[in-house]
Amino acid sequence: VIWQLERTMRDQPLLLDTSNLDILSVRTGNVRIPSDGPPRSLLDANDLSLMPTRFELGKDVPVLGAPLWIDLPAHVNVVEIYYRTTAQSAGLQWLSPAQTDDRRSPFLYTQGQSIMARSYLPCQDTPNVRFTYDARIHVPAPLRAVMAARAIEPSGPTRPVDAASPVSTFNFAMELPIPAYLVGLAVGELDFAPISPRVGIWASPTVLPKAAMEMGDLESMMQAAERLFGPYLWGRYDVLILPPSFPLGGMENPMVTFLTPTLLAGDRSLVSVVAHELAHSWSGNLTTNATWSDFWLNEGLTTYAERRIIEAIYGLPRAAMERALGRQTLEAELHSLAGEPQRQILAAGPNFALDPLDEISDVPYEKGALFLEALEHCVGRENFDVFFKQWINEHGFQSVTSRQFENAVETHLKGGESDKLRACGIDVGQWLHGPGIPESAPKATSLELQKIDLQSKNFSSGQTPAEGLETSDWNALSWLRFLKQMPDAIGSTKLAELDAKFNFSGQTNAEILGRWLELAALNHYSPGMQRIPDFLTTIGRRKLVEPIYRALAQSPADLATARSIFAQAGAGYHSLTRNTIESILRQAEVKYGQR
Ligand SMILES: [Zn+2]
Repeated sequence: VIWQLERTMRDQPLLLDTSNLDILSVRTGNVRIPSDGPPRSLLDANDLSLMPTRFELGKDVPVLGAPLWIDLPAHVNVVEIYYRTTAQSAGLQWLSPAQTDDRRSPFLYTQGQSIMARSYLPCQDTPNVRFTYDARIHVPAPLRAVMAARAIEPSGPTRPVDAASPVSTFNFAMELPIPAYLVGLAVGELDFAPISPRVGIWASPTVLPKAAMEMGDLESMMQAAERLFGPYLWGRYDVLILPPSFPLGGMENPMVTFLTPTLLAGDRSLVSVVAHELAHSWSGNLTTNATWSDFWLNEGLTTYAERRIIEAIYGLPRAAMERALGRQTLEAELHSLAGEPQRQILAAGPNFALDPLDEISDVPYEKGALFLEALEHCVGRENFDVFFKQWINEHGFQSVTSRQFENAVETHLKGGESDKLRACGIDVGQWLHGPGIPESAPKATSLELQKIDLQSKNFSSGQTPAEGLETSDWNALSWLRFLKQMPDAIGSTKLAELDAKFNFSGQTNAEILGRWLELAALNHYSPGMQRIPDFLTTIGRRKLVEPIYRALAQSPADLATARSIFAQAGAGYHSLTRNTIESILRQAEVKYGQR
């Protein structure tokens, strides 16, 4: 990597973040910066007159890694670092062919958020520092490299890979300043399908047709988002479907969102994740939390924006349903955090663990979105939309704090002396700095959900048999809600009754099946239990596998099952998922005196 620096302190060494990298050599030099015209790419520069410099890798600290100190002579503005990643580089996942859909070629992808970019790139790994970059990637044929950046012609974006050549080279440029966690790369056997002139899908050849169908609304989503939040500034918007071990629903890498294949339900029922990652093009990627303590500024704003896009494309009933589901998630999360009020707070610190993404909760997402909904309900949608657009517009390509957001609300929404917010009972300080859900939260109402909840209740209490349920107008989200409303201790007889009528154990929608298998584990329902090993060894998305491991960990006998599944599946998980599951199993073992 060659860093070109803007030097503000000429007498200081350079400090970069690293984690599990072998640093081989460091040299410094100079590049003349053209006073006009585009900045020069350093990839082919041969006039830097680089000289070796002294560097020191500091003590390795868990999670944070090791600081790399580099001596900088006063006149230099370029630092070149030769380094190697290692098997411990947590931001890289290397998959064997057996772990991919086509089972033909290996696969590599990066996950930089929150602080893992340092494990594949020596950099200032904070969302408070932005940079532009050029990249050149050499990969063995027939693989293709896709970066969260602009593919430079003639290398891409859809150039056929030359099968005769042993190595293919791909060039990229990210010309808009981004923080390190948004540097994203995937390498594998990938094909492309356009959705519109600026939108398309990358996926393995066998997954591509299904993915292209599922993402058919992407261009309309883009247009809806632009109407709501202002012009899309990044050029292309593509999505890349990763192998099933991807630990997250999606990652908003700029220009190319990375997505789990578990969204491909066949009926576009799970595309709210896509709307979410798209919305990050405004909230998160344009306006970025300055520290991970203000994570809600990325995720709360994006969750709110996601549901506005869903409302624009699929209508109010579906959006209302997703809002109500979000509220249910938030209440469950706050319940589980009852003993930790400091982790229920939106701003400043509570959601920040040493390893930010490891301890992540739904609070920054759902409570953040609820706060914005409360503001919207108070000042009216029209006023709120002006405010939201202005927030994005005024803070584009900046890193922002909760205090800045609080000030913006004060300046643009409060309404001066008349204090509209107070009239609505909204105490901004309480929302940002207090635990729980404030009284001023809007009620989650959805007629559809009320009907589903009633049926769920009547079924679980024995009032209505499975045969008597009226489900003809239900969609996948309805089923998901129905199952989420089931008491955990519903009993295996009831599950068998449902299975006989609706064949849940044969479900292909990963979210519905995930909840079903959780219920099966909680109630020792064996036809469901039989599907668990397969589910847990093929899928690595943390949100889907974690509840099932938790359910299995509730009895010593099932814990043994969970441990033997994990012994097989664990190696295929991303470290984010692996760490979470390891900690669940360890805690259960301690509980049962097995450790
Ligand atoms: Zn997000």
